[in-house]
Amino acid sequence: MHIEIKPLSYTKKLDSRPLEQIELLVIHCTELPDLAMARSYGEEIHYNSGTGNSGHFYIDRDGSIQQWVNPNKVAHHVMGHNKQSIGIELVNSGRYPDWHHSKKQTLDEAYPDTQIDQLIALINHLHRTIPSLKHITGHEDLDQRLIDASDDPTKKVRRKIDPGPLFPWQYITQKTQLINIGSTAKKYE
Ligand SMILES: [Zn+2]
Repeated sequence: MHIEIKPLSYTKKLDSRPLEQIELLVIHCTELPDLAMARSYGEEIHYNSGTGNSGHFYIDRDGSIQQWVNPNKVAHHVMGHNKQSIGIELVNSGRYPDWHHSKKQTLDEAYPDTQIDQLIALINHLHRTIPSLKHITGHEDLDQRLIDASDDPTKKVRRKIDPGPLFPWQYITQKTQLINIGSTAKKYE
């Protein structure tokens, strides 16, 4: 399989870790229209360390895979679970651009077969190369916080709902050997 290596500009400033520390794979979708916009969000600096938020791997709709952060670095992709995990982001519009609008809380863009098949290949590749990796879950399972809706502060919406109901968990479970632990990944906090 081909992975294009495209490090974010601040990757040297991210914390290093031994690969044996990695136990968990977290599936995300970008909730942005394309990979280029995801890249500009990923490059934004949000922390005093001079780093920002991103996954390690990005898979575009056509199945092409890019690595933005080496797994031997801790990326900021999920609150409370970064140290032990790898983040994989699937390009998908999600709720863009009304992420937190109370009437737009559905993820209706399907994941193309090519994108999912490449995800499975990447998961199996990572499982072979990082033997300590054993669990998988979705961002929505780990971050269940509610925030005020953008259109109506008396309403609450989910901060994160990716990868959402159209993500084929059952198929992933059939084709890989990682155990889907859902929201029980609390133990990593
Ligand atoms: Zn996410």
